[in-house]
Amino acid sequence: MIPAHLPQGYYTKTGTVLLRKDSAKEGQSILIFMRELGPRWAGAPRANAKNRFGGATEPLTWARYSLYQSPTKLYLQDAEVREDFLTLRESGGTLLCAMRLYKLTAREAPTGCENDALLRALWSALVQLREKCPPAAVEFRYTWKFLNLMGLAPSYDICASCGTRLSGRGVMTKEGVFCASCAKNGGLSMDAAELAELRAAALLPHEKFLLWSKEPRKNENFLKNIKLLSPYFANMR
Ligand SMILES: [Zn+2]
Repeated sequence: MIPAHLPQGYYTKTGTVLLRKDSAKEGQSILIFMRELGPRWAGAPRANAKNRFGGATEPLTWARYSLYQSPTKLYLQDAEVREDFLTLRESGGTLLCAMRLYKLTAREAPTGCENDALLRALWSALVQLREKCPPAAVEFRYTWKFLNLMGLAPSYDICASCGTRLSGRGVMTKEGVFCASCAKNGGLSMDAAELAELRAAALLPHEKFLLWSKEPRKNENFLKNIKLLSPYFANMR
């Protein structure tokens, strides 16, 4: 296992920049989410007041990053762009969705440890957006998958109280989805078709999701459920 504080030396990993902070004195600090290393802050010093890494330190860009860990700090030394996802910038809705996924990841993913499954899910979500899947379905899927990797996602199959299979109506709450007999007041009531939609968006394999998500469907169910998933992240802290 790779320790939270890396041994001094050189590292080369593929990944993506989740966040960037600029400081006049020290140049840029970037939170890079990399294979095997997970999300880590690194300094990206300027050369002659110019950003020598070009687009590689822009969020949404995926690159192969070469880093040096000094006794005190991790520094970016070089970056080779692999995929810039430039077409995501052509649509405002798609770009905003991608930025929300990045912000969520920067805020909630544990730093300094491996998280390759989440990194793969983030990559897949950007590919889905590039392939013109509806942003609401992609955002719901990624948010659920993120929670699922942390062991915190609600089940859309089984009642959170009595454990029976949810075959008809279900009520989504902060504690999970309840069947009609266990549901109390409050929460979002959904019919069987709406629950089936969430199940499919969460669990279909990537290739099947690409086709399924493009069938005509209302975004409202996904939008409401994205909001209802966000308190689940609090259970990590
Ligand atoms: Zn129940």
